[in-house]
Amino acid sequence: MSTESSPLAAQAATTLNVGTAGADAIETDAVVIGAGPVGLFQVFELGLLEIKAQVVDSLPRVGGQCMELYPDKPIYDIPAVPVCSGRELTESLLKQIAPFHPTFHLGQTVTALQRQDDGRFALQTSRGTRFLTRTVIIAAGVGAFEPRRLRVEGIADFENAQLFYRVRDPADFAAKRLVIAGGGDSALDWALNFAREATRSADTLVLVHRRHEFRAAPSNVGRMRELVGQSRMRLLIGQITGFEQADGCLTALQVTGVEDQTVTRVPLDALLVFFGLSPRLGPIADWGLDLERRAVAVDTERFETNVAGVFAVGDINIYPGKKKLILSGFHEAALAAFGAARYVFPNKPIHLQYTTTSTKVHKLLGVEPPAHAGPAR
Ligand code: FAD
Repeated sequence: MSTESSPLAAQAATTLNVGTAGADAIETDAVVIGAGPVGLFQVFELGLLEIKAQVVDSLPRVGGQCMELYPDKPIYDIPAVPVCSGRELTESLLKQIAPFHPTFHLGQTVTALQRQDDGRFALQTSRGTRFLTRTVIIAAGVGAFEPRRLRVEGIADFENAQLFYRVRDPADFAAKRLVIAGGGDSALDWALNFAREATRSADTLVLVHRRHEFRAAPSNVGRMRELVGQSRMRLLIGQITGFEQADGCLTALQVTGVEDQTVTRVPLDALLVFFGLSPRLGPIADWGLDLERRAVAVDTERFETNVAGVFAVGDINIYPGKKKLILSGFHEAALAAFGAARYVFPNKPIHLQYTTTSTKVHKLLGVEPPAHAGPAR
């Protein structure tokens, strides 16, 4: 499985209620790990039971596999939605959960989960955001998506200094000799993005790809070839096989041609690599959870793990008869919310409320009750 992030991806997050990392731990009822379709719907089911949620995802945008792997492909098996794309499903889910105002912490992976003496869980992310929460719902799909690394011995030493797998701020690369590696949408999107800068030329913007064919959108490939023709950027077909350094700085790359094996020296200031993303179960494997075939074992009454108060829903869990489908994850999220409510409101009976008729739910959703709602439940 492979996918990539793009400039559009980074922008999408700006419309969400995005959390900021502070020195203090964020205290909450529930932390949802993963903002795929199931994590998003989990926020809704928790909200109906008045449980507030914070959502963390290692990607810079929400939607999980739907947005990363098939944003424009049609899905035909969402109940009562005959057809919608991965993107449309994500947008609808965001609209559905909006009344509950979840806070999103994107671009960060939950790395640690530990139970505290008071029974709550302390969570920490790769960006240092900390949470203290009564319940945790793992909706981590096939694991955290991590960028595929460039495999050249010693080059990792330059990561986050001159070698990057994500663009946080394009201004960081202005007026720099830039090499972009990759042949998918992210590599092409960013190459075209930087080519717009007035000072760019074939000396300051180089795209390196291992073969003549590109996976990116044909229109972008066409535009890139036009820019190469106008010497606004350079295209090298080959693989990065080595580098030169001076005074601790990366100064040039060695690119070996695929056909003739000739080595081209490319001087640079910064290297952006977009080789796609691959999922990694990663830190979840170290949290003392029962695992089976790289998935988290749960019961089918509450979708709770062997650690009381920690639930797992969606593609990440396993139980007899499990099917990795979005609709299964939605069902699991509903029952996990009821399971979580037992910890958040230990002394309160939790009743099922119909969204059609419950005035309490209407209030939570901020909607007017229908004129002939019938008896409230
Ligand atoms: P995901 O969508 O995988 O989302 C999990 C999220 O968790 C990711 O964004 C990840 O970055 C994040 N994450 C993981 N670990 C961490 C961590 N430690 N910290 C922070 N974030 C983390 N299903 C259907 O029902 N119908 C279909 O037609 C269909 N078509 C598909 C087509 C394709 C090509 C593919 C690949 C899948 C398809 N599926 C379909 C399957 C469906 O996409 C999955 O079942 C669904 O995405 C699972 O949702 P999820 O929320 O559990 O996980």
